[in-house]
Amino acid sequence: MSTFVNAYGVPAAGEPLVPTTVERRDLGPHDVRIDIMYCGICHSDIHFARGDFGPLPVSPLVPGHEIVGIIVETGAEVTRHQIGDRVGIGCMVNSCRECANCLDGEEQYCLNGHTLVFGGADRDGSITQGGFSEAIVANEDFVVHVPETLDPASAAPLLCAGITVYSPLAHWKVGPGSKVAIVGLGGLGHLGVKIAKAMGAEVTVLSQSLRKKEDGLRLGADHYYATGDPETFSGLANRFDLILNTVSASVDVDAYLSLVARDGVLINAGVPVEPQSVNVFSLLTNRRSYAGTQFGSIRETQEMLDFCAEHGVTADSELINASQINEAFDRVLASDVRYRFVIDASTFSTPAA
Ligand code: ZN
Ligand code: ZN
Repeated sequence: MSTFVNAYGVPAAGEPLVPTTVERRDLGPHDVRIDIMYCGICHSDIHFARGDFGPLPVSPLVPGHEIVGIIVETGAEVTRHQIGDRVGIGCMVNSCRECANCLDGEEQYCLNGHTLVFGGADRDGSITQGGFSEAIVANEDFVVHVPETLDPASAAPLLCAGITVYSPLAHWKVGPGSKVAIVGLGGLGHLGVKIAKAMGAEVTVLSQSLRKKEDGLRLGADHYYATGDPETFSGLANRFDLILNTVSASVDVDAYLSLVARDGVLINAGVPVEPQSVNVFSLLTNRRSYAGTQFGSIRETQEMLDFCAEHGVTADSELINASQINEAFDRVLASDVRYRFVIDASTFSTPAA
């Protein structure tokens, strides 16, 4: 006997989200049932809902992949979690577990395709539905522990935005002495500043204008420059060991590469729709690398949460009710949020106003 829980979903690409219900399967031996407390709103939720990544795989589609909640039921063979544990789910809920990347513990790069938390094909053939809902059932291996010292609402964005910036910073071994630049001060970027700073790096924000400069410095940045000012690029040439670009718009890749020091790297975490061009001379100079990154593994997500608990890092977030999701989507698209919306999941049971 599966159960139906209250949720908010998109009936068709580009339409507003509406109250709906979503079916949650009965627990398998390794499944846990989680009562969701909070779910963050990520730019990708909006892309999916608007059909930017293709037609909706199911109607209605329930987005949401920054989930924090409490385990209320465990399958017979669950060993990793107990009833009452505070836990999180991020972008993926399964992978093949057999390919080279899965065996290396890098299941976000599963060669057979990981299962996204929503809009993904689950093993029983159903389409997964995400965290804009009251409860979710998931395999225990893709559920992480959220330390009790973290505020659960502002910890929710760590499950996508947090791991997406933590993973490259950790992989390229940022630490004391590293000179790091974060491009864009949005949901990803503001966590990039906090986490890079907590890792001991000297952190610079590169933003279009100086509009958020005060905020950037308050979040921990040491320096803040406007990319709209051409002198920024001449003044900072060859400066950074690592530049993390969190912006999803097209940028002048060569201009950013010119800021990378010897053996440094420019990493794209944002996803521009258009192909980006790069002049190979920009790479030859200083033996630079141009790389990409996609969220992080489950092991690394746990490591990130523990790191954030140790250093007191959470997102700056604005708590909203379910009925405000559509307005919040519009405000995210207008960059009118500092810096992440988080939905109070107890309001999914309340009819929209
Ligand atoms: Zn996301
Ligand atoms: Zn795999």
